[in-house]
Amino acid sequence: TSTLEGLTALVTGGASGIGLATAQLLGECGADVAVVDLDPTDIPTSMRGFTADVTDDDSVRSAVDRAARGLGGIDILVNNAGIGAAGTVEDNSDEEWTRVLDVNVLGIVRTTRAALPYLRRSAHPSVVNTCSIAATAGLPQRALYSASKGAVLSLTLAMAADHVREGIRVNCVNPGTVDTPWVGRLLDAAADPVAERAALNGRQPTGRLVTAQEVAAAIAYLASPAAGSTTGTALAIDGGMAGL
Ligand code: NAD
Repeated sequence: TSTLEGLTALVTGGASGIGLATAQLLGECGADVAVVDLDPTDIPTSMRGFTADVTDDDSVRSAVDRAARGLGGIDILVNNAGIGAAGTVEDNSDEEWTRVLDVNVLGIVRTTRAALPYLRRSAHPSVVNTCSIAATAGLPQRALYSASKGAVLSLTLAMAADHVREGIRVNCVNPGTVDTPWVGRLLDAAADPVAERAALNGRQPTGRLVTAQEVAAAIAYLASPAAGSTTGTALAIDGGMAGL
């Protein structure tokens, strides 16, 4: 776990779930880590926390600049902040569509735009976006969420093409159903959370949910110099959901 020694990393949505596990693992791998979130007060003291809303360009720029000053640069950007949405095209309002696309897609655009000047000064620059198997799986009741993650996938490929000559690698991870506070909230809303969790486990080819640490490990690999020839790829961490 010393593959990120000497590197700096910025993780959005790093106060919970996949982002928190990623920030912790990047730190264990030797990186100096900053976390950007709506409320980063609860993050471990080993990390630097910066408050920003990825839908607000000024707050993103300010947080990225302050994080880069504190870290002494940015080598690794993990665009992980995201929100969910359930329903078919008949269920979500235009306002809900605008809101989810603003967070999940434009949030990546704003953060990357603010971080690119720092990434350009790095010897090992890379970006990892948290996408989802929803980008390609055709999940029921997830029209808006799937469209937002489909855009994240295309954006990842386009950004990889745009910045490959500058040596900036851009990849994404496609998690399946990950055991995070987000999924916990969905289960808590069910009539019988225990039965619902058992049913959810049963729908996974592996018989269990993906852990946030397993997604973090994939992000850490894609962000590391060891993945120096990997750009414009999507790595599935989905318990076999997409492939089986
Ligand atoms: P989570 O709710 O535990 O964490 C998400 C974090 O993002 C939170 O700390 C939240 O405060 C932050 N955030 C939300 N909106 C923000 C905003 N506007 N500005 C700044 N920060 C904001 O969720 P998670 O499950 O860890 O999800 C993280 C990412 O993983 C998301 O992009 C999600 O779409 C993706 N994902 C999750 C799953 C899953 O099953 N949990 C599966 C596939 C993909």
